[in-house]
Amino acid sequence: QAPTLASFLSSLNPAQLQAVKHDPQVPLQILAGPGSGKTKVLTSRIAHLILAHSLPPSSICAVTFTNKAANEMRERLTKLIGEERTSQVRMGTFHALCAMFLRKYSRMVGLEGNFTVCDADESKKLIATLLKPYKDYLAGKDMTLKEGTVLSMISKAKAKGQSPADYREHIHESNKKDKKTGLSQAEPDDVSRIVAEVYDAYERALRKSNSLDFDDLLVFGVKLFTTHRPAVAWCKHVLVDEFQDTNTTQYDLMQAIAVAKCITIVGDPDQSIYGWRSAEVANLAKMQKDFASTKQIFLEENYRSTGAILNTSIAIVAQDKARIQKTLHTSHPAGTTPVLRAFENEYEEASFIAVEIKRLVASMGGVLRWGDFVVLLRFNALSRTIESALQKEGIPSRVLAGHKFFERLEIKDLLSYLQLVDNPSFNPAFIRAVGVPSRGIGEKTLAEFVSRAEKMQISQLQVAEKIHDGKIPDIKPPVKRKLDSFVKTIKILRTLTEKGTSPAELIRRLLELLDYENYLKKTQPDWESRWENVQELITFATEAEVEVSDIIENPHMNLIDVDSEDAVVVEPKETPLRLFLQASMLSSEGDNQTEEDNKEKVTISTCHAAKGLEWSVVIVPSVEQGTFPFYRTDDIEEERRLLYVACTRAQGLLYLTHAEQRKFGGEAKKKDLSEFVSAVTKQNPSLFTNQTPNLPTVQRDVISRVLGRPPADEAEVRRRCAEFERTTRRRVPQKSDSANKNSWNPTFSRQRPIGTNPIFFPF
Ligand code: ATP
Ligand code: MG
Repeated sequence: QAPTLASFLSSLNPAQLQAVKHDPQVPLQILAGPGSGKTKVLTSRIAHLILAHSLPPSSICAVTFTNKAANEMRERLTKLIGEERTSQVRMGTFHALCAMFLRKYSRMVGLEGNFTVCDADESKKLIATLLKPYKDYLAGKDMTLKEGTVLSMISKAKAKGQSPADYREHIHESNKKDKKTGLSQAEPDDVSRIVAEVYDAYERALRKSNSLDFDDLLVFGVKLFTTHRPAVAWCKHVLVDEFQDTNTTQYDLMQAIAVAKCITIVGDPDQSIYGWRSAEVANLAKMQKDFASTKQIFLEENYRSTGAILNTSIAIVAQDKARIQKTLHTSHPAGTTPVLRAFENEYEEASFIAVEIKRLVASMGGVLRWGDFVVLLRFNALSRTIESALQKEGIPSRVLAGHKFFERLEIKDLLSYLQLVDNPSFNPAFIRAVGVPSRGIGEKTLAEFVSRAEKMQISQLQVAEKIHDGKIPDIKPPVKRKLDSFVKTIKILRTLTEKGTSPAELIRRLLELLDYENYLKKTQPDWESRWENVQELITFATEAEVEVSDIIENPHMNLIDVDSEDAVVVEPKETPLRLFLQASMLSSEGDNQTEEDNKEKVTISTCHAAKGLEWSVVIVPSVEQGTFPFYRTDDIEEERRLLYVACTRAQGLLYLTHAEQRKFGGEAKKKDLSEFVSAVTKQNPSLFTNQTPNLPTVQRDVISRVLGRPPADEAEVRRRCAEFERTTRRRVPQKSDSANKNSWNPTFSRQRPIGTNPIFFPF
């Protein structure tokens, strides 16, 4: 039963209420610190627009930074306006939003509807090929240019909305900005010229393969929405979360979607941490120019963290002298002082973390469980030591934003076949699929395919099919033989797809045709876990099917614009296979894990990926010079803000740890405490303690927070603990679990099962 409008408005403070009720016609910026309820306000505002202003849910566009954030918002919104209406709100990341519309209106921007989204790995391979002709030239000048470097330079150009032609023009400027691209001894002009040429060739190659890379989704989205207005005629209000991290292209996109000029954004300049990916905090000021009479509302009360955590976090970020000071206070009690501990080396540090987590879970009487802990790392490579320490103590953990599920070898093998069935022009998939299982087709033969495809102006798959059908006579018979099973497999899958076979069933058939389990056994030492991933892919596909049928059958999910008079050119049919492939390309780590799974696991994540989320206990290891701030940073203040983001994820307990010695590239190096922390302790030593928290105190703190008052006596503490033990630990989570957001609630739900993944959101 959804709450009434009045009841959910009553859970907001006056400033939040003002923001929620603010006139929808007047552009609004909500600027506030972490945990002040920005995301909550954004969600409530959506509900208010629907309930009080009678906007159709499908006329609202809500943009989040990650899929995970979209999941959370969807969940919060469902509580306010119910499942049906929530499902109609167009909610997702900029990328997902663009992908969906580009599918439908592909022709309007010169694409085929069956375009494939190409991942970073495929992009890199493509660039490596395109760089080959420059190899001798570079070597002659004693220069190196890595494909990763080139890709990131191209990506930056796209984030700024620069086409290859624009890039060529801006060569000199971009060179000045890209000081830290990892180039060695390269003459800037030479490099820029080469990158410009590769960029151009890369774009042509992508188009020839009928594919887009991730950045292209946005670039083409802008193109679509600015040139073909009916594609956005449905939009009456746009809301953007984490606005401080939008780049120029995303900003342009937002502007293009906001046809009605009705817009609400929330953001926090102190949490801008994506400058390295071309995010522009200046977009906040830009918006005020582009959207006349934009109103600003500030929120000042933090509902997430204890007083001590908030004070320490603010002391960290306040060291940035250029920062605009703002007010942020909490009505929660001071709680336990954040812990700062030094260790001899990274193993001691990791072992402390594991033992401490275990101690808290074991002795808090069920008040805390594994899922309430997060270890936040400066970068992924630090996770190995932590993971093995947790494992040693028997603590279940999961890595958020680690090696992405859909980037795993076995998953990519299988997807490459399906991609080829859906989009025969997608050459990157051909190169991969033809080698799975190994058919003895060598580099030379592959190069032959590539050049023939070029010459004949057809795709590489088509070349293979022609060879197989004997239509290219000057090819050696062994090649033809080697291709036999491959071409047959593709043909069988194609026929099955045409008959409407589901993606899950297609994968099952593909496994048989390739004898894939045996192939894994023969080629991969860790084949068992890989085989498990394959099973997981089938599960993902099965659950996706339910959502897909929703999209195809639900009239609200129809993209064709009801309000628009214009004739709209729409691609004929969305196939289940295509939707499945899209979902897998846009999915990120964690999407394939169920909520129940995560509650029983300690999360290991990068600080970046933890943005917008909250946990009861946050542990940040390796706060050392060179690690945090990272030695290769261009922007020390962005590193400081990143630590601030990490610390402000904590509700009740915060630990920072560092090692005096850490191995880097196999070599042990001496390490100093991070300047971000030493500056704070110098100024005010009482902001940290080296004592681990006193458990009875923590227990009382948690209970006070849940009850909204301190426990009456010891007996109540015991009673409450017993209750926790009973209710939170073994209970299957209920939909209503996260209703009580005011509490430091260990049952706070953070994830939805993949079946409800909003990748398949309602269009
Ligand atoms: P971040 O900057 O980290 O993204 P945020 O400003 O988006 O933070 P939210 O995630 O919306 O903050 O809110 C933080 C926590 O505070 C959530 O658990 C939310 O439910 C709670 N909260 C926000 N406003 C209120 C309120 N008025 N009463 C009770 N709890 C609130
Ligand atoms: Mg938020």
